[in-house]
Amino acid sequence: MLLTIIIVAFIISLLVTYRNYRKVRARAEPYNPFKETRMKVKVGCTKCNYTKTRAFKHSEYIFQEIGKCPKCGKTTIIKGIYHQKKKSRKEIKWEKWLAQWQ
Ligand SMILES: [Zn+2]
Repeated sequence: MLLTIIIVAFIISLLVTYRNYRKVRARAEPYNPFKETRMKVKVGCTKCNYTKTRAFKHSEYIFQEIGKCPKCGKTTIIKGIYHQKKKSRKEIKWEKWLAQWQ
């Protein structure tokens, strides 16, 4: 009887220790914005109101000249670099479902 109580108490203490260990591990992980977001670049024309948003490429910076505007032929520059929250599969599915009714 006593042995059973000791074994059960031991198992419970192991579980509690494991749970606390998991909590400490989760807290110790540093915040990584790249895990939940993706970098986006807003490219815009210097003359007309043409803008386009696309994925960020390495070593791009604000006001960098990118190319020619497809509308008027003037140079396009990077007007903004920002993080965008990644959409979950559920959100994408929901948006697709909504789009078929529009
Ligand atoms: Zn333009």
